Amino acid sequence: MTVFQRLSQTTHGALSSAVFDILVIGGGIVGAGIARDAALRGLRVALVDQHDFAFGTSSRSSRLLHGGLRYLAQGRIGLVREASVEKLAIRRIAPHLAEPLPFLFPTYRRTAWPRWKLSAGARIYDLLCGRSNLGGSRTLSVSEITGMLPGIQRRNLTGGVRYFDGLTNDARLVIDTLRSASKAGATAANYVRFVHASRTSGGWDCLLQDAGSRGDLYARARVIVNAAGAWAPKIPRSRVRLRLTAGIHLVLDRNRFPVPEAVVMAEGNRILFAIPWGDRVIVGTTDTDYEGPLEDVRACDGDIRYVLEVVNSAFPQVGLGARDILSVFAGVRPLIAPSRVRKGAPSDISRSHQMRVPEAGWIDVTGGKLTTYRLMAEQTVDLVGGMLKRDLPACRTAREPLLDPSEVEGVSGILPPPPTQATVEHYCKHEWARHLGDVMLRRAGWHFYHRDADEIARKAAAWMAEILGWDAGRQAAEMLRYQQESPALAGLSPPA
Ligand SMILES: Cc1cc2nc3c(=O)[nH]c(=O)nc-3n(C[C@H](O)[C@H](O)[C@H](O)COP(=O)(O)OP(=O)(O)OC[C@H]3O[C@@H](n4cnc5c(N)ncnc54)[C@H](O)[C@@H]3O)c2cc1C
Repeated sequence: MTVFQRLSQTTHGALSSAVFDILVIGGGIVGAGIARDAALRGLRVALVDQHDFAFGTSSRSSRLLHGGLRYLAQGRIGLVREASVEKLAIRRIAPHLAEPLPFLFPTYRRTAWPRWKLSAGARIYDLLCGRSNLGGSRTLSVSEITGMLPGIQRRNLTGGVRYFDGLTNDARLVIDTLRSASKAGATAANYVRFVHASRTSGGWDCLLQDAGSRGDLYARARVIVNAAGAWAPKIPRSRVRLRLTAGIHLVLDRNRFPVPEAVVMAEGNRILFAIPWGDRVIVGTTDTDYEGPLEDVRACDGDIRYVLEVVNSAFPQVGLGARDILSVFAGVRPLIAPSRVRKGAPSDISRSHQMRVPEAGWIDVTGGKLTTYRLMAEQTVDLVGGMLKRDLPACRTAREPLLDPSEVEGVSGILPPPPTQATVEHYCKHEWARHLGDVMLRRAGWHFYHRDADEIARKAAAWMAEILGWDAGRQAAEMLRYQQESPALAGLSPPA
């Protein structure tokens, strides 16, 4: 029996053998956070994801831990305050996944972001963090901002503001949260789909399906939590109504676009970011209504061109083109639909979250942001305690470290670790990696960072073959599957 068969038999056995207090549908950051919180409070927890953990939006974000300066301008003070406190909590529990990131926001005459307003906003932003932000904000003169960003557009420039948020690694935050949940006793299974649930006297009988074998599995749970992100409305019994908006990011070589710190580029009311990521820069994002397939969200030609144009107009001498793009990624925001009819610009829709109980023993958790996942989890588990009529211990997730430093060394962080067989072995044996894409796209992120990602993928496939017992056919099939899953630049014609 291969390592993989042994691991998956154990998980499947665990899923069917117990009555769980909670079954969580969805292994994105929200589901992972709920599983961890519930397990730490002594509940019996199972979590399933139909794909890999973090397959959905939680590996396709801008990776910012932020209150959202933009939401402050929209008057959403409560949301900004909530997220500002949460970004500090993530820094406390997972310092390897939360680095302070300074932002330079150049300001211009006759725009929606005058310097005086931004400067006052940044000061309020610092205060909303409660104690102190990850760094203090500061107003910049024209000579200061041009000294820091020599290539910036100078026409109508009035100066700028420097403020702080945090940088994370979204997919790693999910995986490390699940590792922590699993250490606390949760059972987590990727590639297991929730199909439906029927009521019993004590809760629910759940039908699950193994995505590989297509075999049925059964699990019993007292409460079901629907944390399926953009898929949430499709879950049987769900009452969730969402408005989906897509956003894309481009990864560029930092030599081609040498920004010393993160930069905010305003385009009308919208803002885009250039975010330094080691030797790379991540540029994004867009925010447009989305109706395409959820399993295959791709960056379209028009969106890529738009992002390049914003950079080229903010930094006129950079002259970026399609040839400069190393990788791309695109994701869908599961925003709470304010009404049945689609009204207003996507960027105006609130990023707040919601827990609803459409019937006894069922919770729909929707909306929110990566930054607020911990709070969403705490509020959901409080609700579960009420449903189970149990006095649960207080939530510990804002203080309890996610993992010990020795457990993350060399395998988890903001930057990808060096590609080695030992790292891949760790992902397979301790982080549920089953397919090549699980390693390349989510656990390590090598696909997005390295120019020779295909070469690394071939090596990783050979290592996985050794570790998981794949034959040559399976190894070739995994290469193909990874290439189909990886968000390619196919079809992008050179810019005019
Ligand atoms: C472009 C973009 C940029 C963003 N930038 C930021 C940012 O910088 N900072 C920030 O705080 N937030 C950001 N966000 C928001 C943030 O990424 C999301 O709010 C968050 O990742 C949503 O997590 P989730 O767990 O709800 O959903 P997901 O991560 O999508 O997880 C849902 C999971 O449910 C699984 N699932 C679905 N159906 C089933 C089923 N039947 N059975 C089992 N499993 C199922 C899916 O496979 C999926 O893995 C951004 C979002 C986008 C799109």
